[in-house]
Amino acid sequence: MKLYNTLSKTVEQFTPINPGEVRIYSCGPTVYNYAHIGNHRAFLFADFLHRAMRIIGGYSVKWVMNITDIDDKTIRDSALNSPEWKVEFGKQTNDPKENLKKLTSFYAQEFLQDISVLGIKKEHFFAMPYATDYIPQMLDLIENIYKNGYAYISNGSIYFNVGLWVSKEKYGKLFAIDFDNIISGSRIDSDEYAKEQASDFVLWKAKKDDEPFWDFTLDNQYLPGRPGWHIECSAMGNHILGLPFDIHTGAVDLRFPHHEDEIAQSKAGYGVDTSTFFCYNEFLEVEGKKMSKSLGNFYTLKDLLHKGLDPLDIRFSLLSTHYASVHNFTFFGIESAKKARLRIQEYIHECFELSGNDFHEIAIIDTFESDLKESIADDLHTPKAIEIVFTFMKSYPANTLSNIQKNNVLTIFDMLNQLFDVWKISPKEKVELAIPEYVLEIGRQRWEAKKNREFQKADELRDVLLQNGFTSKDSKDGFELLPL
Ligand code: AMP
Ligand code: ZN
Repeated sequence: MKLYNTLSKTVEQFTPINPGEVRIYSCGPTVYNYAHIGNHRAFLFADFLHRAMRIIGGYSVKWVMNITDIDDKTIRDSALNSPEWKVEFGKQTNDPKENLKKLTSFYAQEFLQDISVLGIKKEHFFAMPYATDYIPQMLDLIENIYKNGYAYISNGSIYFNVGLWVSKEKYGKLFAIDFDNIISGSRIDSDEYAKEQASDFVLWKAKKDDEPFWDFTLDNQYLPGRPGWHIECSAMGNHILGLPFDIHTGAVDLRFPHHEDEIAQSKAGYGVDTSTFFCYNEFLEVEGKKMSKSLGNFYTLKDLLHKGLDPLDIRFSLLSTHYASVHNFTFFGIESAKKARLRIQEYIHECFELSGNDFHEIAIIDTFESDLKESIADDLHTPKAIEIVFTFMKSYPANTLSNIQKNNVLTIFDMLNQLFDVWKISPKEKVELAIPEYVLEIGRQRWEAKKNREFQKADELRDVLLQNGFTSKDSKDGFELLPL
């Protein structure tokens, strides 16, 4: 396998640290609201990468994706009187930690449902840690950094001394930082900041009124507070996978400050590097602008399902663009992806039909297989892989293949489907009778919501089922999905 490594800015041959095993850490969602399709591009990229490492690389994979359930935004939206509070979270109390938990568990649940509908399978994760479960590990790391002289206390918060770090180690391994604009001794408290603000960043933030906090005593000073965002991933990555691991993923906006700060903290505290490879997906854009909540130009997965879009087409569409290229989101693009996906599906069906042809030349099939594997092994070149499939289908229509050839081709499509996961490797009749897996999943989610007396959510999911051409017949013990 070859991958573009942002550390070296080149495509490098990938070799894992532990032979045969790849450890991947992906920065996961911040659960303060629904994830949008742009966020899902980042998760689908990591999903594809880990599948490629297993299927094409032949490695066993430990894949970790964290859930950020404490940061500026989750705290802001769980605060008393926040306009973002919804009745579905439950009743707010006077305990900020409890309110935080209620808001974040709601959105974490929504996230898990989204990714399962998008074909990201729970069983593929080695772990999905919640940041709030790793506060002691974060405190250990902060203590180490402080003892090693790279952190200082100011007004009850703890900061990383970037100026000192820069004098000893490279800061800016992933991203060209404009050091002229670093103001010596200036400090930044917010979790996200621009490159011109590369000043001392916060490791631990002093408790504020009505905000969640944890106890911490450092250097005989009592410092109640809560972690900064960057320290979370350093501590979870180290505790769960061990540092350095093999590949760190995220979208390009995580290069700085998030990953740059992770590298500095982990080296300053644990004395080790973070990861051998840093791999980033480019943005999903809408009319030339990053899809983001702040710009308001986003769709959630539910928005798209409500419009009757098939998640298989969304998955295929997002994976069809090379991960390091910008993907422009349009409904026309999803429609084109659907056509391409169904054309391939049709070809797969045709390969199940018996052939009168007994021409057994196998070399063409071997070339097809090796070209496909090579395209994925070469920095996950999915557009190239799809092009190879279309060229093959055009050159060798299914009715010109012998039974043996068709069997071999089906084995190759099965391999490809372990990566893309958007086709059914079965004869046509079976597919038509079956209810699509994502519709079943929505049916199950609706049934769960109904059982938990979350009626608004159950009604919404019933609408999604209707949009997809199904209705749910409920009985005392379960439900049955019927086509409209
Ligand atoms: P967040 O929930 O904001 O922490 O973001 C989760 C992941 O989505 C991170 O890896 C982000 O960098 C990534 N992300 C955010 N917006 C986009 C976008 N428009 N396209 C691709 N990835 C994105
Ligand atoms: Zn992270």
